[in-house]
Amino acid sequence: MDISLKGKRALITGASSGLGEVIAKEFAADGAKIGLNYHSEAEAAGKIASEIRKNGASVLALQADVSDAGSVEVMINTFVKEWGGIDILVNNAGIDGVRSLVWESNISEWEKVVKINLFGPFYCAREVLKYMVAQKSGVILNITSVHENIPWSGYSGYTAAKAGLSMLTKTMAQEVGSLGIRIMSLAPGAIKTPINQSVWNNPETLGNLLKKIPLGRMGECEEVARVAAFLVSDYASYVTGSTIFVDGAMIDYSNFTHGG
Ligand code: NAD
Repeated sequence: MDISLKGKRALITGASSGLGEVIAKEFAADGAKIGLNYHSEAEAAGKIASEIRKNGASVLALQADVSDAGSVEVMINTFVKEWGGIDILVNNAGIDGVRSLVWESNISEWEKVVKINLFGPFYCAREVLKYMVAQKSGVILNITSVHENIPWSGYSGYTAAKAGLSMLTKTMAQEVGSLGIRIMSLAPGAIKTPINQSVWNNPETLGNLLKKIPLGRMGECEEVARVAAFLVSDYASYVTGSTIFVDGAMIDYSNFTHGG
């Protein structure tokens, strides 16, 4: 199977590091034109953009804060003005926030996590769908998390936002299905990126994490990016409204591996 995204115009949010960066590179290698969104890491985004360009793909680095509706509107309009439309949106930008129990949490910190992880994808999808609905085609891939299913003490904003995003996916997929537009969630497990560096950098926390993963290891960004490329490609033409887990079976309650 040779995945081709030739000629597709794809916007990836939060693409200046981690999963977003590798998804952007994978899509570019598969022939897509890339809109590389970044928030504050202009230098990193510039480096990634020139690497992609060097490998022969077209790329546009676009600054925007996904949690700001006005900023998102400007970004999407710039993208569409440049390339005449949009075929793929990957809502990848996200943060997990500062660990705190609900009754100890700071309201503005909690709101920030929900704004970036849930409002952000909504703002981006809302703008992009205006074009996709008119052209009667397009694909949106929302990066959720195993924490759309698994509770995570101290991260209530993150889990609530990711679970909300999963339901937003299903509802939007229902709204646009008859127009031939597909919308899915991809839920990563524990993938080695800057977001969880403090966990995989420490042997004790890493050991504790690995016990939760039946495959016995963390995932690599490329293992997520390849699934993302498949899902946005025509090979996945009958997939919509679902969450696809890329998690080494983390959602399978690994504590039951040896019975109990
Ligand atoms: P990361 O920290 O490398 O990437 C997150 C990106 O989002 C960064 O580039 C950051 O600059 C960007 N971002 C943050 N706030 C933003 C804003 N307001 N506007 C635009 N961009 C913003 O971490 P990652 O692991 O690559 O995370 C990517 C996505 O994958 C996130 O949605 C995260 O929740 C999800 N995820 C990651 C894991 C994992 O184990 N790494 C697991 C489950 C889900």
